[in-house]
Amino acid sequence: MHEDLLKVYALWGKEQARDVLLAEWSGLNGEVKRLKEALATKTAEIQELLEQTESLTTQEREANRKIERYTKRGQKAQKAIDTGTATDFGMALEQVSACTKLIDEVETELLQTMDELENTAEITASKRQAEAQLSAQLEHATGARDERKPSLKVEFDAATAERDGGREGIWRDLLTRYDRLRAKKVMVFADIVSGQCTGCYITVPSEQVSAHRRAVEVGVCRSCGRFLGEVS
Ligand SMILES: [Zn+2]
Repeated sequence: MHEDLLKVYALWGKEQARDVLLAEWSGLNGEVKRLKEALATKTAEIQELLEQTESLTTQEREANRKIERYTKRGQKAQKAIDTGTATDFGMALEQVSACTKLIDEVETELLQTMDELENTAEITASKRQAEAQLSAQLEHATGARDERKPSLKVEFDAATAERDGGREGIWRDLLTRYDRLRAKKVMVFADIVSGQCTGCYITVPSEQVSAHRRAVEVGVCRSCGRFLGEVS
């Protein structure tokens, strides 16, 4: 490898070491963010279930009130029949049967509401469990991130200084090419395998491979622009 290319290669190595630290930080942060979002979603789901529970409880209460009212009404009519005080016997009988029918209907609804309430309570309990689990995970992830933060900062600053130092003494046009490749977030170096650039799989002319191998030329792929590394 050409002497100048070796410098770029060394710079790339330093950059990658710095990238590893960046990736570590973004991983630690990403985990905290992911757990926070999952926890917020879970809490919102529980909130929604609590609202459902409240509305079902209201329905349950109303149904019980209705049953009570119809029961009283039916009993009153029945009493009028039994004691012979009903002004209209037929109407009183009708009232008794109407109340019985209404009570049946409300009771059916009430049973359904109670089922739903039970169901909702079960779902809420399981979601609360998941919420507690997420909360513990978040606490753990936040702790791990915060604990690593100071040492990571020191390592990152050192790696940045190393990287910046690594740029010194490299030709400006090589740095420009290097920065352009970095900005494209592609591998800066490609190897030559069986005469082909591993970056773009275009054949590198044999005289260029030879010049690169003999280190008399800064090897750059003419097709994809990557710096050329190992030849195999
Ligand atoms: Zn290439």
